Amino acid sequence: MRYANDPQRRSWLTVPQDSDFPIQNLPFGIFSTDNEMVSAGTRIGDVVIDLAALHQLGYFKDLEFELPDDVFLQNTLNAFIELGKPVTRALRDRLAQLFDLQEPILRDNEAHRKEVLYAVEDVQMLLPVFVQDYTDFYSSREHATNVGIMFRGKENALMPNWLHLPVGYHGRASSIVVSGEDIVRPKGQMLPPDAEQPVFGASRLMDFELEMAFITHKGKDLGHPIGISEAEEHIFGVVVFNDWSARDLQKWEYVPLGPFLGKNFGSSVSPWIVTLDALEPFRVQGPVQDPPVLDYLNHGGAHNFDLDLEVCIQPENGAEHCVSRSNMKYLYWSMAQQLTHHTVNGCNVQAGDMMASGTISGPTEDSYGSMLELSWKGTKPLKLSDGSERKFLMDGDTVIMRAHGMANGLRIGFGEVRSKLLPAID
Ligand code: MN
Repeated sequence: MRYANDPQRRSWLTVPQDSDFPIQNLPFGIFSTDNEMVSAGTRIGDVVIDLAALHQLGYFKDLEFELPDDVFLQNTLNAFIELGKPVTRALRDRLAQLFDLQEPILRDNEAHRKEVLYAVEDVQMLLPVFVQDYTDFYSSREHATNVGIMFRGKENALMPNWLHLPVGYHGRASSIVVSGEDIVRPKGQMLPPDAEQPVFGASRLMDFELEMAFITHKGKDLGHPIGISEAEEHIFGVVVFNDWSARDLQKWEYVPLGPFLGKNFGSSVSPWIVTLDALEPFRVQGPVQDPPVLDYLNHGGAHNFDLDLEVCIQPENGAEHCVSRSNMKYLYWSMAQQLTHHTVNGCNVQAGDMMASGTISGPTEDSYGSMLELSWKGTKPLKLSDGSERKFLMDGDTVIMRAHGMANGLRIGFGEVRSKLLPAID
């Protein structure tokens, strides 16, 4: 077991019941305060901990790895993540030790505590990494099958390659935003039903996609693949990812080169990166892969993660209503397989790259990860608790996604990604 994961450890900071952030989580994020200081942080319960201040006060001095002085005084985590997993792991272990109930060095130093601790409501969370490259996979068999049935019919639901490789496309990094930022309904071309010519206008079929995304450490040099057995060493951590989608734009444009303007107007992420180490207790086997995968993708063992996921919609002035409950363990292709496949041709990855799973749909109708599937192309409207109906998203809807795991009596979670859909701009 990782030192920082010890389920017996308690912190001298209060952790509310049902918090996503016990001392065994210790995620990483970037926050700003009222006086416009920006710093890297971690979180225990409802307290945000300033890593730059801890570093300045000497609390990371005798680590086995030396940390650059300014590594946390940045507006992204890229420099920290680039140091590699041995360093980020050692730092997380040190945090576990520092905030352990039995450890007095910071617990009993009121002046230092004042310098490093913030109430979560007094800070603003920022995008945790500068995303140089973003890739979106398509790794849920249930989702790919559902969409295939709707777009191509039951016989051709899964394309011939799907069971042999994790299908993906290169997405747009510049429009990835953090939880709390609004998304504007996009305009574009679409082909109305039964029309022969496309029209231009605001998307009428706005959707979310329930995804999880991993963030990479620095990979290898161009030309050098990351092997399946080392893939997880190159994965720093995971966030919840809402891949906003305009289905009408997507349907008209996607042949033959795949998603473009139906996707690249925005994706929203949760602000705390939960490390792959913190997710160790939730490892499970993935679905049986039949036909067997080619050798370079074969890892055996437990490389999926049992994390409960939910999507809720809060209408303008209405109550939040959860429309889907799924689980990350349903993914057919693991994160390790995704990263291995991504680099098998020699493609290089950089610290802070983001790779999203694709919509994670479960086997039942209430576990589908998009409105497209939940309302089955608009043929089965969902009823929200305020009595209103949704085939797709309406202006003013706030979409909220959450993820957490439970193991050894401990809850490790991601908080949430929450974003409001604004009307199209005239
Ligand atoms: Mn997607």
